[in-house]
Amino acid sequence: MKPLKELVRSNIWELKPYSSARNEYSGKDASIFLDANENPYNTPNNRYPDPLQKELKDTIANIKNVQPEQIFLGNGSDEAIDIAFRAFCKPGIDNVVAIEPTYGMYKVCADINDIAYRTVILDKDFQFKANDLLKEADENTKLIFLCSPNNPTGNNLNCQEIINLLQTFQGIVIVDEAYIDFSDQKSFLTCLHEYPNLVVLQTFSKAWGCAAIRLGMAFSNPEVIGIFNKIKYPYNINRLTQQEAIQMTHKYHEVKQWIQTLLEERTRMVKEFKKLSCCLHVYPTDANFFLTNVTDAKRIYDYLVDKGIIVRSRNNITLCKNCLRITIGTRPENDALLEALKSYR
Ligand SMILES: *Cc1c(COP(=O)(O)O)cnc(C)c1O
Repeated sequence: MKPLKELVRSNIWELKPYSSARNEYSGKDASIFLDANENPYNTPNNRYPDPLQKELKDTIANIKNVQPEQIFLGNGSDEAIDIAFRAFCKPGIDNVVAIEPTYGMYKVCADINDIAYRTVILDKDFQFKANDLLKEADENTKLIFLCSPNNPTGNNLNCQEIINLLQTFQGIVIVDEAYIDFSDQKSFLTCLHEYPNLVVLQTFSKAWGCAAIRLGMAFSNPEVIGIFNKIKYPYNINRLTQQEAIQMTHKYHEVKQWIQTLLEERTRMVKEFKKLSCCLHVYPTDANFFLTNVTDAKRIYDYLVDKGIIVRSRNNITLCKNCLRITIGTRPENDALLEALKSYR
C-alpha cells in the first residue's frame, strides 16, 4: 500500500474538521450544559447526540472483536461508501475498479463524485481473478470495491483472490460484507491487522433487522477511520439510532435465532424453487436471498405484482438476463410465493 498521505486527497489530509460543542467538552462530571445552544426542556431529545458514538462503538467492538478506534459508524453503509470516495478520489482525475454485477451504490457514488468507475465482469461462477482487476487499475486508481457475499448474485467471492488483491494493490480495498452473517465464510475483520489497506463494510440493515434505523459500519485501521471521522457530518448518527442499536445488541441471541431460521428457510426455498416449471436455475447463495434464472423474468415479475408479491427483477443487469432476486421471508411469506408460482402458466 502507498503511504496514506499519498492516497488521501490533499484537501482532506489538510482539513481541520468542524469542532462541535460536544467534541470540545466530552468529560463525564459536568451536569449543566450551556455550551451548545440546546433547549433545556424536552429531555432527552433536546441534547445533541454523541458525535463519536462511544457507548455504541464499545458495544460493537466487543461483539466484533475489534478496537473501537477501528470502527466508523455511518447513516447506513451507504454513507461509508460515499465518504470513501470523498476521502480518496479527486473528482475528474481519479478512478475506482469494481466487479460487475455488484451492488449499485458504488457506481452511483462514483457518478455523484465525478469519479470514473471501471468494471471487470465476473466469470460464469460469478468469481473474479485479482489479476484482472489489477490490469484495470493504474496510478489514479484509489479504491477497489468487492462485495462478498455479492449482491445480486448471492455467492461468496473467492477468499484467496481477495487476499491476493490486498497484498498486491497499492490503494484501498473495500470488502462489503453486508450479508456476512448468512455466510459460512469467515469475515475479513480478522485480517484488519494484516492489511492496512483493508476497509470492511457491515450493516444493521440485513441480519440485524434494522434497515429503518440507518446504521452502517466501516472497519479499518485507526488512521483510515480518523480520516472518515474528519469528513462525516458532526452528528451523523442520531440519538434514537444509537440507543436502538445498543438495545439490539442486548437481543443478539434473538438475532442469531433469526439468522438460523432464515438459513433453514433458504435451504427449503432453493429446493422448492428447483421443482418449479418456471425455474431454470438457482444460483448458489451465501446470503439471505437467492438469484434464480427463470423462463420469463418480466412476465413472472408482473404476475407476482398482480398477486401482491414483490421480488426484484435483475433482468437488465449484466449476466442476469431473465433473473429474479428473491429475498427469504417468513415461512408463510415464502409459502405464498411458492403457491403463486405453482399456478403460473
Ligand atoms: C443492503 C446492502 C447494504 C446496506 O446498505 P445500508 O446503507 O447499510 O442499508 C450494503 N451493501 C450491500 C451490498 C447491500 O446489499
